[in-house]
Amino acid sequence: MTERAPLSRKLSAIAESATLKVDAKAKALKAEGRQVISYAAGEPDFSTPQFVVDAAAEALRDPANYRYSPAPGLPALKEAIAAKTLRDSSLEVALNQVIVTNGGKQAVYQAFQTVVNPGDEVLLPAPYWTTYPEAIQLADGTPVEVFAGADQGYKVTVDQLEAARTEKTTVLVFVSPSNPTGAVYSPEETRAIGEWALEHGIWVITDEIYQNLTYEGAVATSIVEAVPDVAGQTILVNGVAKTYAMTGWRVGWMIGPADAIKVAGNLQSHLTSNVNNIAQRAAIAAISGPQDEAEQMRLAFDRRRRLIVQELSKIDGVSVPNPLGAFYAYPDVTGLLGREWAGRRIDTTLELADLILDEVEVAVVPGEAFGPSGYLRLSYALGDDQLLEGIQRIQRLFA
Ligand code: PMP
Repeated sequence: MTERAPLSRKLSAIAESATLKVDAKAKALKAEGRQVISYAAGEPDFSTPQFVVDAAAEALRDPANYRYSPAPGLPALKEAIAAKTLRDSSLEVALNQVIVTNGGKQAVYQAFQTVVNPGDEVLLPAPYWTTYPEAIQLADGTPVEVFAGADQGYKVTVDQLEAARTEKTTVLVFVSPSNPTGAVYSPEETRAIGEWALEHGIWVITDEIYQNLTYEGAVATSIVEAVPDVAGQTILVNGVAKTYAMTGWRVGWMIGPADAIKVAGNLQSHLTSNVNNIAQRAAIAAISGPQDEAEQMRLAFDRRRRLIVQELSKIDGVSVPNPLGAFYAYPDVTGLLGREWAGRRIDTTLELADLILDEVEVAVVPGEAFGPSGYLRLSYALGDDQLLEGIQRIQRLFA
């Protein structure tokens, strides 16, 4: 008998999402009755606002929603997205520049599929969200990491991008506020990067999913607001998951030049067709309805942000740049490495995260999931009491 033909080499090279893996491990331990506190998941602990749930319940009773709808999205949702994009990113778009996707994640995947050709180099500022390198490789592109450490507030400079640029560079990934670091680029930094991309004809894929979650007066300036001309070579990615506590509803979108959205729509018409109509109706309510509950959630995140930064900073060997956006703290923990803790020699943050989970039942994501070792990501989207208790456990472990 001949041996079975191999699996896809392309897919076999894709790693499981590291953040989902840590979260799954934490949830499994919890299910065994262990008192695990998890800072692993990138999801708000709040419930979706009631008026959004009500809109979905109403949609459920409307038979129009039981049928296929246009693959690129319900026109009413595209209208709402266009209005939000004008409001928050200062970009005016026509409806043929918008496509509704199954979460921001599908928008990220489709964005790379839309603009990358085999062998293209994609500049990826690191630390980066763990999905980007895989999505780039699935589009046959080559991710080229450009690292910015805690000393530069986790923000890359034009000089660094220019040093990494080659003839093969066709795309830049720009994320502000950033997952995993919470860094927010200033309007000036954003403008400099946008002008550089424009000058070199480089596509920008800008992920704005955390744009409404900023603190201390920081504003996430859209790259297309900072440099309006770059809109002709920019794909914006966004979604309802983070701002409206709607991670499970799976609604995101991508926006870009009409020709780019046309080819992305062709892909989506074969891949997934329309997003669930009920979820799309809920998204219309979330984006167009009153924004005060979203604001209440932002205020709660802000309070937790200050608490986690304050408490993490008390640990010797840990330094925490102040995160001004998203809901993550990204401490530099190199001071804890190369030492023995609880009888174990710890050299990497992979080992450190394992130690913390084993010894004090606290789940954090190691820096290796987002780039180099030396960092931990802690999502502070969890209740205040748990938030403090978990950090106190870590403080005791490293006392
Ligand atoms: N972009 C970034 C930077 C994210 O952190 C996430 C969620 N972790 C997404 C996109 C995707 O969000 P979703 O698919 O849940 O809309």
